[in-house]
Amino acid sequence: MCLGGKTVCATLLSHRQNHFYLSLFTSYNNIMPQYPLNLYDLSQPQLEQLLAGWGFGRTHADQLWRGLYREHITHLSELTELRPALREKLTAEARLVHLTPRLTQHSSDGYTHKFLLNLADGQAIETVIMRFEARRELPEQTRRYTACISTQAGCAMGCVFCATGQMGFTRHLTAGEIVGQVLFVQRYLAERGASLRNIVLMGMGEPLHNYENTMQAIETMTDHKGLAIAPRHITLSTVGLPHAIRRMADEGRRVNLAVSLHGATDAQRQALVPPAKKWPLADLLAACRYYTAALRRRIFFEWALIEGENDTAEQAHELGRLLQDQTAHINLIPLNPTAGYAGQPSQPERVRAFQAILAQYGLPSTVRQRRGIDIDAGCGQLANKVVSGEWLVVSE
Ligand code: SAH
Ligand code: SF4
Repeated sequence: MCLGGKTVCATLLSHRQNHFYLSLFTSYNNIMPQYPLNLYDLSQPQLEQLLAGWGFGRTHADQLWRGLYREHITHLSELTELRPALREKLTAEARLVHLTPRLTQHSSDGYTHKFLLNLADGQAIETVIMRFEARRELPEQTRRYTACISTQAGCAMGCVFCATGQMGFTRHLTAGEIVGQVLFVQRYLAERGASLRNIVLMGMGEPLHNYENTMQAIETMTDHKGLAIAPRHITLSTVGLPHAIRRMADEGRRVNLAVSLHGATDAQRQALVPPAKKWPLADLLAACRYYTAALRRRIFFEWALIEGENDTAEQAHELGRLLQDQTAHINLIPLNPTAGYAGQPSQPERVRAFQAILAQYGLPSTVRQRRGIDIDAGCGQLANKVVSGEWLVVSE
């Protein structure tokens, strides 16, 4: 099947298949017009539906799903139990698209590995693996690895301090491209005798701007017959789209939610985060309260500490007052400087003073380490340099 040739394919298909394919065409056409069906782009029900249209029952769909996500096959020929007729059909009509690195960087402390991964249309996205284990002497298997994955190529939100925001928006990632990053990381770690524990959707892009594909990808990651990653090990970070946060609450999406705040008044936030002009703090925090009440979960609020910009005692008090009625935890992250923004990270004593004021309001907070600063591991930083020609791109 060629998802680009809508008319040709449509004449070849039964009415039922037509309906299914056309719904896929619609979502694909918005994203990747000329590429054949990537099996990783299908949800489990869609995969079942596809196979049912070819006359293969649920058992076959289950076999294939397990092969893709539990056995981590890289080629259909590895699924020896698959009926030859089904394998032929799949080989003719679909692909297994694996993301390959265009560029790899390792931080000098050995804790952070950053990959610029190729997409089928020539775009590239960032995926970062971080190790959160202070004790180097521990065996590899016991170390905790976190993957930071992207949901879009670029980002439309334009936060002034963010390298991805400075690049602008190219396109949404498909569900398969989001899940593909997890599969890439799992393979990379497995080859080194290690395993993936946590996933943070904090790479390039705004996950809630790409709501459908992000949620489908999370469903695939958490499916107990496949990757089986516990929702509590997944954190979705958003710039704060109130309608989408409410939708997550209504749909019972039980991953950890992190909201990027960075400013405690509308004026202050708007200067750093342009979407704040459309969605004022009052709407955003009402949506957060709605989410907390519906799912009984606390929200993480992120605050990039920028020297002289949002790290004063007055701003800490404003933040304390703002979040007093929220079930919240605040992550304080000293800014990662980027080429397109003059701001600098707050000094450690400023960070400590800010944290102490939040504590007066009963608000717990954690100062997050800036990881892989020597390899541009901040969101979008590597891709931005590659796009701007600062990096020589090498294939591995
Ligand atoms: N779009 C989502 C997720 C990707 S950004 C969001 O904005 O939440 C992930 C986190 O990195 C956000 O909290 C974002 O504000 C923060 N961030 C982006 N650029 C940064 C930088 N240069 N220094 C510190 N934090 C940064
Ligand atoms: Fe987009 Fe998040 Fe970067 Fe803002 S901080 S530009 S929302 S990726």
